[in-house]
Amino acid sequence: MIKGTTKLLGVIGHPVEHSLSPAMHNAAISHLGVDFVYLPFPIKPGDLKAALAGFAAIGVRGFSITIPHKQAILPLLSEVSPIARSIGAVNTVYLTDKGWCGTNTDVEGFLAPLQTPPTPPDQGGARGGSDWSQKVAVILGNGGAARAVVAGCAQLGCAEIHVVGRSEQNLAEFQQSWVNSPMPVQNLQVHTWENLSMLISQADLLVNTTPVGMYPQGEKSPVADGALNRISAGAIVYDLIYNPNPTQFLKDAQLRGARAIDGLEMLVQQGAAALKIWLHKESVPVDVMRQALRQHLGLS
Ligand code: NAP
Repeated sequence: MIKGTTKLLGVIGHPVEHSLSPAMHNAAISHLGVDFVYLPFPIKPGDLKAALAGFAAIGVRGFSITIPHKQAILPLLSEVSPIARSIGAVNTVYLTDKGWCGTNTDVEGFLAPLQTPPTPPDQGGARGGSDWSQKVAVILGNGGAARAVVAGCAQLGCAEIHVVGRSEQNLAEFQQSWVNSPMPVQNLQVHTWENLSMLISQADLLVNTTPVGMYPQGEKSPVADGALNRISAGAIVYDLIYNPNPTQFLKDAQLRGARAIDGLEMLVQQGAAALKIWLHKESVPVDVMRQALRQHLGLS
């Protein structure tokens, strides 16, 4: 129930109407019985600075950030975590004595299903395994989400990290940005899509960070049928897309014996990591958050 004492959290973006975050966070807030509410705030690009001042004035405790503010907010913050600086994007902002501080919980979200013991496919199909030092990661796409995935693969300690993209110039800039990063990644190689089938045969972890196959184009896959024949049985194939669930890419991979992880768990876990920061709690009800998202997406 909203009362005179209720503290505000929310998500800023433009557009923000389709955000799944309010459903996920309010389900957890209600389950915990804490005096918070999480609201969508549609903020136009030119209004970001004014919104931050307004949020401070009305006592907002923290907020999530989605397109188009993830990079633009960086110079407006008092502190930015090294991980957010490396990725070049902030997805979570919280208030401290110093002012607004930013971090990025996407890496934590991406890693969570790779680090936990196996769970049923209807809960994200998470996979365990702790020694990544001999493993080869292949990442499709070189946009914003790919940056969190590269940072995650570096944290896992992957032997080789390969990024596949469309533009040689973007790829070269992407690679260079990791050399000069606060958290440098040395073992990163970049490739155009022509090299994909050779890379797939070496991959222990294959991650789609492109939007290809996302609703309403759920019949598409970033990897042409046939190229996936080279994936080794037992490799992990991870799609950041959570709608449809599973994607065509994951269905094709599973048919070839690969182990599939969908993007829903990353979404849940990046949200859980943010909620822990805002509520100063060591744990939040991840199951409740996952269930709220599944219901919202019509998956259960
Ligand atoms: P982004 O910054 O726009 O990057 C998209 C990347 O995909 C770019 O490298 C782009 O290549 C590439 N791409 C786009 N269309 C392509 C095509 N037809 N063929 C080949 N490559 C293509 O987007 P993003 O923020 O990284 O998000 C990407 C996806 O990840 C979205 O589906 C998003 O929903 C998902 N995501 C999920 C989570 C989660 O929690 N599960 C979190 C973040 C993102 P160019 O550079 O050549 O344009």
